[in-house]
Order: sequence, then C-alpha cells, then structure tokens
Amino acid sequence: MLSCNKERLEDKILTFSKFGDTGRGGITRLSLSEPALKARAEFCKRMKAIGADIVTDDMGNIYATIKGSEDLPHIAAGSHCDSVIQGGNYDGILGVLTAMEAAETIVRENISHRHPITVMIWTNEEGARFDPAMMSSGVITGKFDKEKMLASKDKEGMTFGEALDASGYKGDEKNRISPKDYMALVELHIEQGPVLESEKMDIGVVEGVVGMVNYEFQFVGQAGHAGTVPQKIRKDALLAASEAIQYLHRELDKLDSKLVYTTGRIICSPNVHTIIPDDVKFTLDARHQDPEVIKQVVKIIENIPKELAKCKVSYKELWSRKTVSFNKEFVSFVEKNANLYGYANMRIYSGPGHDAQFAADMLPTTMIFVPSIGGHSHCEIEKTSLDNCLKGANVLLQTILDIDKK
Ligand SMILES: [Zn+2]
Repeated sequence: MLSCNKERLEDKILTFSKFGDTGRGGITRLSLSEPALKARAEFCKRMKAIGADIVTDDMGNIYATIKGSEDLPHIAAGSHCDSVIQGGNYDGILGVLTAMEAAETIVRENISHRHPITVMIWTNEEGARFDPAMMSSGVITGKFDKEKMLASKDKEGMTFGEALDASGYKGDEKNRISPKDYMALVELHIEQGPVLESEKMDIGVVEGVVGMVNYEFQFVGQAGHAGTVPQKIRKDALLAASEAIQYLHRELDKLDSKLVYTTGRIICSPNVHTIIPDDVKFTLDARHQDPEVIKQVVKIIENIPKELAKCKVSYKELWSRKTVSFNKEFVSFVEKNANLYGYANMRIYSGPGHDAQFAADMLPTTMIFVPSIGGHSHCEIEKTSLDNCLKGANVLLQTILDIDKK
C-alpha cells in the first residue's frame, strides 16, 4: 500500500524543530520572526527541490504547487509554521510537514494526479505576536478588516504590515486561496487534547469545529476598609463572583458531558489586600458541537440571579462562533482511508480554532487529527509519536488522491 516515508518525515520534523529551538524540547517561533523566516526559507528550498512553483499572497501566505496533468483547480494541504511562546514542535508545523511529505511521495513515486497540489503555510495563525489568531485566513474570508490587521502591533511596537514588508514574503492578492482556483483544503493538525490518546486512537476524523460562546460577568459592590466594615453589611464583589462561579458550574454540569467551559480570566478591583473588592469581572468560555446545548448554556447565563451577596450582577456576550461543519464527503474520505490502512480512528470535533474553520466558509475543507501525547499542547513537551505522524501523513496523502479523482 502507498506510504509516505518515515525517515524523510522524521528528518523534516527534526530539521524544523531547530528553527526557534528553546533548548528545552520546544520552540518559540513567533509569526514572521527570524526563526519563522528560517522555517519558511527551508520550506521553499525543499518544495523547490521537488519541482514546486512558489507564490505568496498579500498576507504572506505561501503556496508551493506541484503541477497536475490537467488545468484544474488546486487541492491545498497545509497549516501554519508560527508557534506560541515556548510552544511545541507539532502544533501547526506538523500539518505543513505532512503535506510536504505527501507531495514529495507523489513526486518521487510518480503518482499521476490531475489537479495541481498546493502545500501551503498560513501566516500568523497563533496571534501570539500580532493579535488576533487566524489573522490571514480571517482576512481572506472577509472576517477581519485587512487594514486593521496590518496595523496590529507586537510588543515592540512593530506592526504586522511592517513585519510583512520586511519579511520578503508579501505577494499579490490574486494568489490568495479562493473558491475559483481551489477545490479543496485539507489540514492535518495535532489534536491538542487527550481524547484520541485515551481512546487509543491513531487518527481523529474531524467533523467540524465546535461552536462557542464567551461571556463576561460583572459584580458591583461597595469598597471599604478591610479592618472596619462589619461582615454583615459588606457588599463584597469577589464573594458575589465566587458564588456566581459555583452557580454556573452547578448548572452547566447538568448539561451534556461533552460540554467544556472555563473561567480563565478574573479581574478584581481595586485588588488591594486591605480593601473590600467593589468591582469584579470574570469570563466564561463554553464550547459544544450542538447549537442546542450552547442555547441551554446561554439560558443558564440569563437565569443567573440579578443580585448575589448584595452585589449587582450583570453580564454581556464578548463574542461567539457557530459550529463549523466540514465537507461531509471529505470527512468520509478521511474515515475510509484511516480504515484502509487499518488505523484505529474515531470521529471528533475540534475544540480549538484553526485556519481550516475559516476556509470552510469559502471552499470544501476538512481536517485530520493525530493524537497529542498526554493531551499536551501550547507547551514545550507537546509531542506526537513518529508512528502517528506517519499515519496522519498517509491518511492525508490518500485523501488528497481521493479528492483528485473527483
Ligand atoms: Zn495550530
């Protein structure tokens, strides 16, 4: 059976792990930083070596294309090569490396294909240097305003636009991935969670990206001296917030067990150890694939008492996203191919966002997940076994070839 090459894939993983190496097993490879530019140069060098034509678009996304036998829309596969600070060697980059390996296998084994096959790198997926995440796919799909994105600044005050100009990767808008020139996008990615590993699965057949809501709650009380105001008459906003968190957990736990929710940010004012807090805010991020469950979450939020611990309670939605469903036929190709190779697989929804989720709005798209050891991601110990990387590459290769036959 057709297979990608394990040694070649390992060489790719080891080579790219040097770009931004922290010396502790991970990488810091912020978007358009020097290590990221080195990774891009290596990508271009290797893709040219197998005969690819390389173009970039106005957001610096790179497209390396192997010609097909006919003049047809492209099949794209790829991901991002930027990382978070002290991230791992698999998030994003594995989707690029497996796509490179699939293309290299097609070229070296002389596998005929009708459509051009394009391996791509998305610019600034993480948003770790320039906010927001998934910046380029957001601009291309019209979700983000390009001028605003170009003005996004890093900590040193450099704008994304300036970094893009300096990078040498700014190209033409006409090169953007589009429904006219492209028929498919497949993104392989690490799961970034513990489900596949705990279920002893090799491959996650990704059906879509879960919908989510993000709310901010506010609690307004009365500040006062920690040493004088009797407990009975206090309006302690932090106490109110803690009661609200308890309430939310109690109620949300009654919903579907696949619901995940997090209070990840809390702001306590004035945050002085001798003052009773009078203004506390916290966020609630809740995710589930079924819009009905998300509706129930919102109902619970709306039913929160208007007053807790004698403090005024209010809330507002910060942002939300609908569940994204991937192309059903492509999802079935991924599943069929995992079965074809005898890889244990299960259907799964992505909790994190990916460029593919934005791209799915404009062209048929799907994703392939491989397990993350220990569920770790966005940290230096992030890892996927070489065997599972190869399995992912094989499913990707075969899925590209299936799409080519359409
Ligand atoms: Zn990623």
